[in-house]
Amino acid sequence: MESKESIIIIDDDESTCKTLALIFKKQGYEIETVGTGHEALKKVKERDFNLAILDVKLPDIEGVELLEPLKKTRPFMDIMMITEMGTLETAIYALNNGASSYITKPLKMDDILNAISVFIEEQKIKKQSQKSNDITTNENILIVDDDESTCKTLALIFNKKGYNVQTAGTGYEALEIARKNSFNLALLDIKLPDVEGIELLVPLKKMHPDMETMMMTAYSSLETVIRALNKGASAYIMKPLEIDDILNKISTLFEKQRLIVGKKELEQELAYQALLVENVSDAIISTDKNLKIKSWNKAAENMYGWNSDEVIGKSLPEIIPEEYPYAQKGEVNEQIFENGFWMGEINQKKRDNTLINIFSSSTLIRDNMGKIQGVVTINQDFTKRKKVELKLIKETEKIKKYLDIAGVILVALDKRGNIVMLNKKGYEILQYTEGELIGRNWFDIYIPKENPKEIYEIFKKLMRNESQNTEFYENSILTKSGEEMIIAWHSTLLYDNNGEIIGTLSSGGDITELKKGEQDLLSTLENLKEVNSELERFAYVASHDLQEPLRMITSFIQLLEKRYKDKLDEEANEFITFIVDGAKRMQLMISDLLFYSRIGRKEKEFSQLDINIILENVISNLRIKIEESNAKITHDHLPILIGNEAEFVQLLQNLIYNALKFHRKEETPVVHISAKFQKNQWIFSVRDNGIGIDSQFFDRIFIIFQRLHKKEEYDGTGIGLAICKKIIERHDGKIWVESEVGKGSTFYFSIPKK
Ligand code: ADP
Repeated sequence: MESKESIIIIDDDESTCKTLALIFKKQGYEIETVGTGHEALKKVKERDFNLAILDVKLPDIEGVELLEPLKKTRPFMDIMMITEMGTLETAIYALNNGASSYITKPLKMDDILNAISVFIEEQKIKKQSQKSNDITTNENILIVDDDESTCKTLALIFNKKGYNVQTAGTGYEALEIARKNSFNLALLDIKLPDVEGIELLVPLKKMHPDMETMMMTAYSSLETVIRALNKGASAYIMKPLEIDDILNKISTLFEKQRLIVGKKELEQELAYQALLVENVSDAIISTDKNLKIKSWNKAAENMYGWNSDEVIGKSLPEIIPEEYPYAQKGEVNEQIFENGFWMGEINQKKRDNTLINIFSSSTLIRDNMGKIQGVVTINQDFTKRKKVELKLIKETEKIKKYLDIAGVILVALDKRGNIVMLNKKGYEILQYTEGELIGRNWFDIYIPKENPKEIYEIFKKLMRNESQNTEFYENSILTKSGEEMIIAWHSTLLYDNNGEIIGTLSSGGDITELKKGEQDLLSTLENLKEVNSELERFAYVASHDLQEPLRMITSFIQLLEKRYKDKLDEEANEFITFIVDGAKRMQLMISDLLFYSRIGRKEKEFSQLDINIILENVISNLRIKIEESNAKITHDHLPILIGNEAEFVQLLQNLIYNALKFHRKEETPVVHISAKFQKNQWIFSVRDNGIGIDSQFFDRIFIIFQRLHKKEEYDGTGIGLAICKKIIERHDGKIWVESEVGKGSTFYFSIPKK
């Protein structure tokens, strides 16, 4: 690098001095180093330097205190401050008091060289721009706003217009970026996380004197705008941002930049101010202290329909009749003249008598002696916006009415989980007064049990688009009185025009009662199961223990019969026969009952069964009965399925046995077994041509010991079908019958496929 720039390094740390000196020398700079403030002042008095690198702490004096005397001695020397990490205030203070830039410790050489070269480059540009009117066509814009979506939107628009854009989210970031690059314009949000936007004005201007600055502000901070303009901001724009307004202002600013190159500073400034006042979309009106109009810009002409030469010298209140929807007329003037400032909404009449909505701010102007000079008023026409706003309010009210009719909670949350909208039903269920919850965080009213932090984390992830939207879920919420409610939610994400997620809309139904009912049902079922198994245990124990005494009764009665038959009379013999019969039957029933209660007492032993083979076994078990009755038994091809082998044998055996037993005397029994697959289950049928069953008994025959005939007609205890039912239920199936008296019956059972 060929350069004759000279640098003085003011730092008491010798090693820093040496290192810096070495590096700068290599770059071709001329270097001088000093260790104290006094030495520095002495050196600077002796000769001129292009740049001073100044440590914030020196043995004899604070670095920042040196700024003023150094600048006084060498007004054209630039000063770069070395500051400690994380002390933005010092940096800002330094920049406010004459430093041109700053670097942060621990020093990074690349960083420093970069900063210096940017700085030297700027000096060159400055020199050049004094020579020619050349201006780079590619304007660079720096956007400083912690609201990401604003940054993105603006960047997009500016890029489209051919501007280069960089964005920063904090004041610190902004200064860092500005240190390394030069910009034509910086757009500053008024409120940043680490510093007030206004505080950045002077430091940025110091680094890039030709850069324009524009504040972004909300309605409510017009006062701040005035402050910003006083601190050197070139212009301001209102949030919500109106793109046309912004582009218009920006091109005006760039126009100004083009204008000022090569002109004297005062001329430039005047030209610029005139240009700005004439080009802004806000009416800027200045009056004397009696409110006689002194200036009236182009926007005012357009806004009110009066030309400036028609109104200059006239009384402002007469030219623009005003109504104050939110304040008294007298109050406003009182405020301006007493407090020096008024800001608010007013309605004004145009020349053609139409009414417009104005956002107005007035500032009292005093001279150096404090004497009142007049008032400057900035008026912004928001009639159109007001109309849209009113329409929006009406629409919202209409929508709200619909929402209020809904029988479910409807709630809209913003990105942070704050309640934006909640309908009537929502307030009713949560037991709050309508309107009370707007702005509150939804996750504050979750019950602790549900772990609100965890749920909030899930929500935040959803908002960052990092997780899948769960459209349906259930959880509990806590009402104002502390009652727990179970809500079934359906949610959808809400997006803005750019496709960014801005929140959620959820509908929630109160299912507390339903859940309670479900719970009740479950516990009843549980109880029933308990009772049932209790009964089964009882049946088992009873039938098992009854067998023994019964056996004793039977054997002694038989003994009685054998020994005393001849010694007793006819009647006594008959009685004995009845007792023997009864005891035998009771024995049969008890052993049936025992058999019945044994089914299912063991663990389910399921295996793959070929029903064709099972049926073969059953037929061979029933061989004698079949031969006796000359019966014909046929079957279709039967499936292979999962089940308990012994139980399946019992099942089919009981059904076929009944089909043979309940046959019509005049007909030879014909039995057919088949199975078909339907809705994921096997449906078996056992069809006979027997006596049939009256439909009124279809359910009864499956109950234990229920039978339809006297034992003299057909033997049996009435347990066969009850056993079938129990077996089927253990296989998760059902059993039922279709029949016609005198024609035959078909017993069906289903086995779900496992
Ligand atoms: P049991 O055969 O010992 O009487 P079941 O439980 O097997 O007991 O049958 C109950 C009743 O159902 C029988 O008494 C009979 O009236 C009727 N039933 C069963 N199967 C048939 C059938 N295939 N045809 C006509 N009636 C039948």
